[in-house]
Amino acid sequence: MVTDGHNHTKHFSPDAAQSVEELCTSAEQCGIRRLAVTEHYDADFPDSSLNWVFDIEEYKTAFPNWQSANPAVELLMGVEFGYQAHLASKIDGLALQAPFDVVLLSNHLIRGEDIYVSKLCYEIPRKERFAEYVATLAEMTERCSNFDVVAHYDYINRYGTDDDSRVSYDDCPAEFDRFLEALVSKEKALEINTKSIQKLAQKNACDIMPDPKIIQRYIDMGGRLITLGSDSHTPDGIGICFEETIEYLKSLGITETVYYKGHKPYPETL
Ligand SMILES: [Zn+2]
Ligand SMILES: [Zn+2]
Repeated sequence: MVTDGHNHTKHFSPDAAQSVEELCTSAEQCGIRRLAVTEHYDADFPDSSLNWVFDIEEYKTAFPNWQSANPAVELLMGVEFGYQAHLASKIDGLALQAPFDVVLLSNHLIRGEDIYVSKLCYEIPRKERFAEYVATLAEMTERCSNFDVVAHYDYINRYGTDDDSRVSYDDCPAEFDRFLEALVSKEKALEINTKSIQKLAQKNACDIMPDPKIIQRYIDMGGRLITLGSDSHTPDGIGICFEETIEYLKSLGITETVYYKGHKPYPETL
């Protein structure tokens, strides 16, 4: 099984319920032998009831112990930085404060509100909502440099109530082109987030797999770096929907994904 490049633990991510031991045990049971721990670092997050930032020095100290306590699984030290316009240079600085294997960059907000709980978000007409979200992905990819992967480009439709809520290239082609062009020119990876797929499956959406046009456009522009991440927060989330997603990617002609170690992409055959 390929690497799971996106996971959270309760030690440093306030919304995760699994310990690193539980994560590693579950990974082994799924046949996953390598995974990235990518704890949340969302500075100035609007939901101040939880602490969305952690002490990077503490994380650096804890991580080697995690690896020695769980030798059957290779752990990659990662982080998921949450973007806001005023944080671009701060994120680039923070990313250098530890020898991260992989840095994910993501956006959990629309108009300053948390997409997970925002009601305003779903009052914005569907296409406008998607266009705004993808434009922010483009902006963060252009403005930040010290990251490897853009996580869950489809987060905007993960918690929506629309029946056909998969975000598609044709919803906002100009914004997707700008985003994918920035990814390709900066040689950053596009994550296929399998939790987003699972959420669409739970809503009985008609199309649950990522829009093939988005992936094809990235490849046509010269993109070669695709990662897989389950975004697990509990032990049952690791590797979720990986088998179906791998089959789907192969059906699109994609034969390899990558994982990052020391910020370098390593290919894995699907
Ligand atoms: Zn996220
Ligand atoms: Zn995450």
